[in-house]
Amino acid sequence: MKQVLLLGGGHAHLGVLSALAQQPLAGAQVTLLTPYRELTYSGMVPGLVAGHYSPEQCRIDLAPLAAAAGVQMLAGQAIALHAAERRVQLADGRSLGYDLLSLDTGSVQNRGSLPGAREHGLFVRPIEPFVELQARLAAMAGPRPLNVVVLGGGAAGFELALAWQHRLPACRVALLSGDGPPLAGYPPAVVQAGLRALARRRITVFRERAAELQAGAVVLASGARVACDAAVVATGTEPAPWLAGSGLALCPRGFVLTGPTLQSTSHPEVLAAGDVATRADHPHAKSGVYAVRAGPPLALNLQRLVAGAAPLPYQPQARTLNLLSCGERSAITVWGGFSLGEAPFGRLAWWWKDRIDRGFIARFARAAG
Ligand SMILES: Cc1cc2nc3c(=O)[nH]c(=O)nc-3n(C[C@H](O)[C@H](O)[C@H](O)COP(=O)(O)OP(=O)(O)OC[C@H]3O[C@@H](n4cnc5c(N)ncnc54)[C@H](O)[C@@H]3O)c2cc1C
Repeated sequence: MKQVLLLGGGHAHLGVLSALAQQPLAGAQVTLLTPYRELTYSGMVPGLVAGHYSPEQCRIDLAPLAAAAGVQMLAGQAIALHAAERRVQLADGRSLGYDLLSLDTGSVQNRGSLPGAREHGLFVRPIEPFVELQARLAAMAGPRPLNVVVLGGGAAGFELALAWQHRLPACRVALLSGDGPPLAGYPPAVVQAGLRALARRRITVFRERAAELQAGAVVLASGARVACDAAVVATGTEPAPWLAGSGLALCPRGFVLTGPTLQSTSHPEVLAAGDVATRADHPHAKSGVYAVRAGPPLALNLQRLVAGAAPLPYQPQARTLNLLSCGERSAITVWGGFSLGEAPFGRLAWWWKDRIDRGFIARFARAAG
């Protein structure tokens, strides 16, 4: 009997579990290793911070899904992978062997790169402790006018700054977008729509990097100090450090290099999808949309490899739909290089996003039976 190890209960493995619930893997024992029993759906986290959702509404319980798929679920965290020995080392001292390994462990944030961040930063990853801590911060703030500084001008930083402003209207929220404007990776029309949305909600934008986090302040690269009671760190998507010693081929940034069949370019018995992987033939953004879409082809190729068939290539979509929430129930629509901006369709876009997100959660609840 082949041993198949699913490492990480991320967005791509949701699709694998629900596919296996439809068609179990014959001839294999499948194990899911995950530090958390539930997956928090990141697309709903800004809405959770804004107060539109409870944590429970944003979570998918992996246990019933794994049970429906005939997958054994183990609580634990990998700290090393020895690809040559086909073995994963766990934090609690156990080690797990495999014939086929599927990686969906996401990305991490480097806590050591910004002085003071370890002590004073509220990191958005892992998302589970962030969800706990943001609730405590909101409760602590109450009606007091706290200074909240969000570091990171990407989609997550943009949405979180607006979410905090909506949740705590008495607070002063600032966004540090680094060298460029917020949403710099998006087309100019989206950047402009983003700047308008931030200005409308009185969020101060600093096009600067943070040099240090201190108690009560963020020191900017220019030397200026911004008063700060809570620094939300939404910067950086980095590979887990343990990938470096795995023996797997990695991209220059240190993520697992995969080919068209989602197999590692160096170890065909290892497949990877989501943020942990970089497609050598088709590099694309690291986002939840790509991770979710990779789930069904990942499941199919695991099934084919177990059956001794050749895995099939998978072509990720060229464009993705992004609905960027703006704190209140309003969103900016982005489809590839095209954007509707916020007004006049912002409310409709939020309604649409809300339906998609709630539908996503409900789909996996149904798959769990
Ligand atoms: C606030 C926020 C909002 C976002 N909003 C969006 C959005 O609206 N749309 C979008 O497309 N993207 C969004 N993203 C990005 C999105 O979250 C990621 O791209 C997505 O989570 C990647 O999915 P994944 O399956 O690769 O990894 P993850 O969803 O991070 O899952 C990885 C899983 O692996 C587990 N894991 C990690 N390390 C180990 C280990 N060593 N051993 C075992 N298990 C491990 C983790 O606990 C986790 O459950 C957002 C991100 C943030 C922070």
